[in-house]
Amino acid sequence: MRSSSAGTESLLLDRARGCLLGAALGDALGATVEFMSRSEIKARYGVHKKIIGGGWLYLKPGYVTDDTQMSLCVARSLVRSSGFNAVDMADAFVEWMRTGPVDIGSTVAQGLRRYIAKGRVAAKESQWHGGNGALMRVAPVAIAALNCPDSLEEWAVGQAHITHNHPLSDTVCIAVSRMIQSALKGRPLLELLEIAHELVRIHPEFTFRPYNGKAGGFVGETFATAFSSFYNTDNFEDCLVECVNQGGDADTTGTVAGMIAGAWYGARGLPKKWLNKLEKNTKAELFELAKGLLEIG
Ligand code: MN
Ligand code: MN
Repeated sequence: MRSSSAGTESLLLDRARGCLLGAALGDALGATVEFMSRSEIKARYGVHKKIIGGGWLYLKPGYVTDDTQMSLCVARSLVRSSGFNAVDMADAFVEWMRTGPVDIGSTVAQGLRRYIAKGRVAAKESQWHGGNGALMRVAPVAIAALNCPDSLEEWAVGQAHITHNHPLSDTVCIAVSRMIQSALKGRPLLELLEIAHELVRIHPEFTFRPYNGKAGGFVGETFATAFSSFYNTDNFEDCLVECVNQGGDADTTGTVAGMIAGAWYGARGLPKKWLNKLEKNTKAELFELAKGLLEIG
């Protein structure tokens, strides 16, 4: 009994690490081709599949962007507060913004300026908030809420609303959190697919099959790109390569595909050649945070 429960625990930890590290790998891989079109990527790289940095942000190989940096803020705050604390998380975002990050989304910057000026931890609902900036950092919430199922929706939406308040963003933050939890628990793939199909049934903006080829910053396109890549492949590497080669907001589609596929295939399923390239402080911290997040609740 003892060894079997230890085995289950280590499998869960491996999947949680796969989720966080997988998202960071998607960011590092995708950043190279962010804002490029499919044909531009093809002309320049054939198939882009190496973590080489560069891109419009001139990243060093293995370095990550706002997607992972904000996810780190979310994860640290959840661990520090033993759950979701909006003020602590908003403060963490502001502290990060003040470090002069390599990139920051306009909705994120606007939301944090509102928090600084007015102290309000939630944005008002806005038709302009349908971007992917809340979805890209939701992975730690899914892991943290595993032992607090009643809190999942409140935490997923609460972290989102610090900067993004839009029904599509809210719904997909909850749905992707549920998918990650389903994968972490080792549930059948069918359960995860049902969550995706239910999401599409309520909001056709998330349709991933057939995939319309749009990979922009609108959260519907980001989800569809990430999820169709997961749906059409059977291993982490192929999923991420298919995803980021769509171009567009490739670091963020890569982040979202990476969090879902990473939770599903586990850290053991992440390509060693990519993990070896990932910036070592980021990698070490995500590795530890996965454990801290699982201890919440
Ligand atoms: Mn980014
Ligand atoms: Mn992006």
